[in-house]
Amino acid sequence: MRVYNFSPGPSMLPLSVLEKAAAEMCDANGSGQSVMEMSHRSRDFKPIIEKTESLLRELMGIGDEYSVLFLQGGASLQFAMLPLNLASGGNGPEGTGGKKRIALVDTGIWAKKAADEAGKYALVDVVSSSKDKNYTYIPAAPAPKGDEAYYHITWNNTIVGTKWPSIPGTGSVPLAADISSAILSEPLDVSRFGVLYAGAQKNLGPAGTTVVIIKKSLITPAPAWVPAMLRYDTHDKELSMYNTPPCYGIYVIGLVLEWLKNLGGPEAMGKINREKAALLYDYLDSSKMFYSPVEKNCRSLMNIPFIPREQDPEKRGIIEKRFVSESAAAGLLNLAGHRLVGGMRASIYNAMPAQGVKALVAFMEKFENF
Ligand SMILES: *Cc1c(COP(=O)(O)O)cnc(C)c1O
Repeated sequence: MRVYNFSPGPSMLPLSVLEKAAAEMCDANGSGQSVMEMSHRSRDFKPIIEKTESLLRELMGIGDEYSVLFLQGGASLQFAMLPLNLASGGNGPEGTGGKKRIALVDTGIWAKKAADEAGKYALVDVVSSSKDKNYTYIPAAPAPKGDEAYYHITWNNTIVGTKWPSIPGTGSVPLAADISSAILSEPLDVSRFGVLYAGAQKNLGPAGTTVVIIKKSLITPAPAWVPAMLRYDTHDKELSMYNTPPCYGIYVIGLVLEWLKNLGGPEAMGKINREKAALLYDYLDSSKMFYSPVEKNCRSLMNIPFIPREQDPEKRGIIEKRFVSESAAAGLLNLAGHRLVGGMRASIYNAMPAQGVKALVAFMEKFENF
């Protein structure tokens, strides 16, 4: 029996994708081998990576002025690659000579990690933060001064459950966004961004591939001391084939994109996701036992934390423990909240069927009225 997996990542994949991958496991496309066994430079693999890229371009509306890169190292490596390539100085990581400024909005743990990593190679201005209220809202984004190499935001905050209500205007300063936990969950105007990046394991496919969408004009040679593997120009020149790319992951992403296209693309997906999220938020807003800590105008469609209203920490702990174990027994997995937020969290990415969210709400109603 398949369970409903509410994990923040890695997370569910569409059943039809898993079945297709299983059917092609030993003989993909009549090649007599699995995708895992193919040379990445072979005639068999080339159409696979090309299909994945062209579907991604089609579904996200990515223009020819952008490069699409399939890298490794997760979104976490992009926290370093971005400043290394766009803002670092000429005389080594320690030198200050030529280091550029970047602007960054602090919306939680992932944003903080991006800031800390960028601080090693660039001059970081944290231009606003929602730390004062435990990151339960998205702060205003002040206009940049104008000389920043880029302006960084975390589009969907996986841990605290916020999402930017709109794309901030940054003038001539390129906007860079971590979209790991929201890529293709609804339409997004790519042309407003200089750089977008996402680890695959939330909405795209298996862990191990990171998608980077970057304006070609921003791919300028990094200082000579920056390692070849950490340079956008390396991967761009070699079409993500400088070294062995995460071949199998790229293949499964292609299957997921095909599934998404058949479903109607990001427009249709966004409608489904809004309906799914509304089921849970509507319940939470009327529940006497749980609440959503996030301000209404910036609630995530993908990650939904919910906290017991019980004030006594001991009693609250008991409710949380009981909830997590009883929901798991009912086939609703990985609902424990992040330790820094507390309570519970349901991650309902693209592949979570509406039926799964309905099952969760039904379980919560029963739990509340027990
Ligand atoms: C999961 C996540 C990350 C970390 O991704 P890795 O691929 O594990 O490095 C970074 N940012 C956000 C918003 C995430 O959700």
